[in-house]
Amino acid sequence: MGEVIAISAISLILPTVIMKRLILRSRASYLTLEKKHSRNETLARYDSLSGLINRRAFIEQAENQLACSGDLAIMLIDLDNFKLINDQYGHSYGDAVLVGVSRRLEEAAETYGGIAVRLGGDEFCLTFLNSKSEQDLINIAKSVISSLCEMTIESVRFLNISATIGISRSWTDAQNIYELLHCADTAMYRGKNSGRATYDFYDEEYEKQKRAQDDLEVLLKQAVDSGKIVPFFQPIVTLPSQEVAGFEILARWVKSNGSLGMPGDFIPVLERLGLIPAMTRSLVKQACRAAQFWDKPFNLSLNVSAAMIVDEHFPIQLLDQLVQERFPFNRFEVEITEEALVGNLAAAQRNLRILHDHGVTVALDDFGTGYSGLYHLTRLSIDKIKIDRSFFESDQAAHLPMVEAILGMARSLKMKVTAEGIEDFHLPHLPSWLSENGCHYAQGFFYGRPQGSKETTIRFSPLKDLAPIDSLLSQESWLYGANRPTPPNP
Ligand code: C2E
Ligand code: CA
Ligand code: CA
Repeated sequence: MGEVIAISAISLILPTVIMKRLILRSRASYLTLEKKHSRNETLARYDSLSGLINRRAFIEQAENQLACSGDLAIMLIDLDNFKLINDQYGHSYGDAVLVGVSRRLEEAAETYGGIAVRLGGDEFCLTFLNSKSEQDLINIAKSVISSLCEMTIESVRFLNISATIGISRSWTDAQNIYELLHCADTAMYRGKNSGRATYDFYDEEYEKQKRAQDDLEVLLKQAVDSGKIVPFFQPIVTLPSQEVAGFEILARWVKSNGSLGMPGDFIPVLERLGLIPAMTRSLVKQACRAAQFWDKPFNLSLNVSAAMIVDEHFPIQLLDQLVQERFPFNRFEVEITEEALVGNLAAAQRNLRILHDHGVTVALDDFGTGYSGLYHLTRLSIDKIKIDRSFFESDQAAHLPMVEAILGMARSLKMKVTAEGIEDFHLPHLPSWLSENGCHYAQGFFYGRPQGSKETTIRFSPLKDLAPIDSLLSQESWLYGANRPTPPNP
């Protein structure tokens, strides 16, 4: 009997225990699931390194705000030179910087009633869900910049951290979050360009200019690749005979509508894009090939930019190219300005010596406008100086004593001299005066404007065929296009 009772008790208790266990177990797994879910949720909304809300959550929040026609101001904060910090000190140090920045931004968000976001990489954002005056935003931006600049990270205290801020506002710039971010990005880019560690507001006019600049860059890249930057040739004559000795290569951009771009407009852009070496190689190739059709062995002068003259590969590459094009070294000249030399004098010194030792002439361009230091003249392998054209402007006869002094100095240093920018003879016998004072060459509109290779072949060999300047200007030239100079009034 007792056994029966015991068995029936067990049969009653056992399922209850099992049930309880099952319930407990499923509760535990429910809790784990919930924990996992909330962890996933956290991971989805927050950045794991900084603990700030992430880009996705920020976009959601901003979209909600804008959907209810709420105001939204965005401060896009991008660290300056963060890649350098990472490369120099390693990624764990880079992470410490990012965490430090995040804490500062959290403090700023708390003080000014905003939300701090890590958008990704070294890009952060402070967002404000209400309208703020321009002055308020300026104050906040200034205080964020100075708090980041003051930031020090243990172990590398001397490191300067700075950031550039771009600001956009829903009530003035755009009502869509992606457009607002783009506006803030454009403003930030502007700040980076104007020296970093600064802030800027979105400006539509600036964006238009930037877009035009981007388009120009694309066109210029294509122009260099497809040989649309062509050499024009300006004659350089010997004195006193005034016979053409050679030509200076001057770059021109033949645009798709046939008009010509001038170097002052495109050389700085190509410099920024690092495309000057490619352009120069192309000019040398085209110029040497044009020279094959000349009936006299004229010289060629090439303008060499600052970055190229200090590039250790430049002299050998140029000499190689001249060999390839079968152009003799002793008929080739490089023109450099003093400004180009000062950046890295040792490298320039080495490169110029290589060129000079191979028979290439080295000319110092625009002499008299820059440093005009004797240092450069005596320490570098300079064979020739080109006296700047400002000394020969028609109302500048007063400069002639200076020209005389430069010529005397060049004579002592056994250097050749070219007088640049001879437009007319404001002295009755300028060429003979120059020649008597030891000037070997002259160049300028009087002797000929820079011209395309087709015209050069016909007009400049020999000099007695050189048409007077007025008749040159009155002739049609396919290369002048829209930029053709207006002929002077008769
Ligand atoms: P630059 O080397 O001093 O070249 C002389 C400039 O003076 C040329 O202007 C030429 O057209 C102009 N010129 C010549 N004679 C006269 C004259 O009698 N009167 C006046 N008013 N001007 C005269 P361009 O072709 O516009 O070139 C301007 C500058 O652009 C050049 O100055 C040179 O620094 C740079 N450049 C031109 N081509 C190249 C190139 O292929 N490479 C590099 N790196 N720079 C170049
Ligand atoms: Ca020159
Ligand atoms: Ca010059």
